[in-house]
Amino acid sequence: MEKGEGKREIRRMNRTRIARLISKAGTVSKNEISVRLGLSMPTVLQSVRELEEEGIVAEAGEYGSTGGRKAKQMSIAEDAAYGAGMDVAKGHIDFVIVNLKGELMKKARIRLPFTRDFSYYEAAGNWLQVFLEQSGVEKRKIQGVGIALPGEVDQKAKLLLRSQTLGVENVSFQRFEDMAGYPCYVDNDVNGAAYGEFAGESRDGVYLALNDQVGGAVFINGTLYEGQHGGGTRLGHMRLKQDGRPCQCGSRGCADVYCSAAALLGDDPGLDVFFERVRGQQKGYRERLNAYLEDLAVLSVNLRMVFGCDVVLGGRVGPYLRDFRRELDKKAAGYDLLDSDTSFLRIGKCRQEAAAYGVAIRCAESFFERI
Ligand SMILES: [Zn+2]
Repeated sequence: MEKGEGKREIRRMNRTRIARLISKAGTVSKNEISVRLGLSMPTVLQSVRELEEEGIVAEAGEYGSTGGRKAKQMSIAEDAAYGAGMDVAKGHIDFVIVNLKGELMKKARIRLPFTRDFSYYEAAGNWLQVFLEQSGVEKRKIQGVGIALPGEVDQKAKLLLRSQTLGVENVSFQRFEDMAGYPCYVDNDVNGAAYGEFAGESRDGVYLALNDQVGGAVFINGTLYEGQHGGGTRLGHMRLKQDGRPCQCGSRGCADVYCSAAALLGDDPGLDVFFERVRGQQKGYRERLNAYLEDLAVLSVNLRMVFGCDVVLGGRVGPYLRDFRRELDKKAAGYDLLDSDTSFLRIGKCRQEAAAYGVAIRCAESFFERI
């Protein structure tokens, strides 16, 4: 690398680091930027000036007096870049668009049953165009489209490797990208929901997706843990019970068998009905919920012991647990005699569009790699 080229690269990296810090902090003074990133004040001043000129950061007002002089607060310009997201489900697609601050600008759900033929991609692509046009966001500012898929994915090949939910294997989204006219990236829907849950936070956390199957993702140092081979984790197949009930993975006693929505529901038609029957004290329902909470407490405490961070209960079951928090806390405390503090347990934000939101934020944030 030439000397001048090296200098330019360092300047670019500094600008990226500064923009990311401002984005994460919400508002921050130039002095704080210098301290937190260990950069000299002249470097910070020059980089911030450039970022301001390009419309990426802006002054956000003034805050408390420090020795008579007020420090200007910088914040990210929310309209500098946007990210779009779509969550592909069996019968519908959720679309969202978010700005660089992670604010949800617009969302929509359209009914479109998944099929693996061309007409599906065409219809999905058309709906995407309509949705993005209606959002009023300038096309050039949309960094890309994140596609959340219910199954195992190969991100590089933009391939859905297998999905039990959709009943397919090896579905390529490369063609969809060519048609959509935006750079696309694919991810697993649990990763999407987890990223949406933790994005913008500086704390580590484990996300448990309590859906028809139990999925999970670990968020460490501001990013999702990918594991040694990039496949993430398989929290749903941790063994909870020796010689337990058989699991669809071929093993026995997995968390999936005891903590999924399906495990709780049995033959009941839906979660609303199930919890109505619990409240109505219908025979046997309270006992079933108790057994579920017991198993969930064991799983959560085990995860807390391994990772030492918050455990978020998300997915479809998550929001229903809010009303049974005390029972869950009591059970969890009983499984960790060294630490009875159960504030590590969190109920997820559980937005309906969680997965689409998470992949959209990742797209918006990719902007920082290009400034
Ligand atoms: Zn299993």
